[in-house]
Amino acid sequence: MKITIIIIVLSILLVIYIIKRAVDYHKDQIAILKRKIELEQKKAEKNLEKLQNRKDTIKRITGNMSEGVVMLDANADIVSANASALNIFDIKDEIKGVNIIELLRELKLLEYAHKAVEGETSDALMNRNGRIYDVRFSPSQGASQPRGAILLFLDITEKHESEKLRREFSANVSHELKTPLTNISGNAEMLAAGVVSEADKPEFYNRIYDESRRMTTLVDDIMYLSRLDEKSELREKESVNLYEILSEVKKNLSEKAEKGNVSIAICETDFSVTGDRNMLYELFFNLIENAVKYNVDGGKVEVIAAKNIVTISDTGIGIPEESLPFIFDRFYRVDRSRSKKTGGTGLGLAIVKHIAALHNAEISVKSVVSTGTKIYIVFN
Ligand code: ADP
Repeated sequence: MKITIIIIVLSILLVIYIIKRAVDYHKDQIAILKRKIELEQKKAEKNLEKLQNRKDTIKRITGNMSEGVVMLDANADIVSANASALNIFDIKDEIKGVNIIELLRELKLLEYAHKAVEGETSDALMNRNGRIYDVRFSPSQGASQPRGAILLFLDITEKHESEKLRREFSANVSHELKTPLTNISGNAEMLAAGVVSEADKPEFYNRIYDESRRMTTLVDDIMYLSRLDEKSELREKESVNLYEILSEVKKNLSEKAEKGNVSIAICETDFSVTGDRNMLYELFFNLIENAVKYNVDGGKVEVIAAKNIVTISDTGIGIPEESLPFIFDRFYRVDRSRSKKTGGTGLGLAIVKHIAALHNAEISVKSVVSTGTKIYIVFN
């Protein structure tokens, strides 16, 4: 009986011991698990912080970009848009979550945005509020990233305009050179074919000479203008006495003025300008030559240089009001045949405009048809 009791007690003690060990074991396991969970939680917090930092860095970078940046998710909904993008689309409200269809209303652009989400890169032009943008559509998914797209909007308005101007200029140059070339070859061909009488020959030779001179002047002006195009500022500057320059221009134009029975008067002045002597000579030569060329028999040209303003007045044919906005454009002439007769290239005032800009001078024109023209150059 005693033994039985002892065995039972021992068995109970054994069971208690086993239970305690089991509980201790699980307690250890739970502690290990708890530590693991805590570690994972810390890791996740760190990753989240890293992600937030990365997001902030992207926001900071894109926020300072002049290009518009729009990020899309897999549904082509906007995830983020930087300040420039909001400006381009004139958006003041929250844009996150809005579908790209709200920004890009053109079908082709929308199609490219969806293709970018699917993994295809594209490029297209977009017109918005009078500006031209080059839009780059790129997929944004990587190994660890969900699908999406990045849209980059580059403002290329100025580049586009200057390319257009360059294309127009080249087309005009070809056209302008073609006319004298055609005339030269036409006249030379007739001379070579022996169909011109001896009496008419001098006229043909003169025409060939005149046209080739026209071409030389044209090429000189084009080259001068393209040299000016390359300059964004004056490299060499000196103090230039305007009276000296104006007197030199008058002397060199005296023959032309006499031929047209036009008088040139220059009012004496001590006015000096800081700039490029040769360019300033070219500027005043072109303006005073025009005042002589587009004058009438017995007409007058008067040049006054006072304070920082030079005024060139003539009593010539004047410029119609509707032509005034265009006279500084390349190859623009009010009367093509009159300009051609006087050896004009239509580039004189374009050169003047360029030189004035390089000298920080402003030009304005007042003109009355059949009364005359006044040109003001204000040196700032
Ligand atoms: P062009 O070589 O034909 O003279 P410009 O560029 O110098 O070219 O001038 C452009 C046009 O402006 C001229 O063709 C002419 O019609 C007009 N113009 C310029 N200056 C005068 C002026 N003083 N009086 C009248 N017309 C002028």
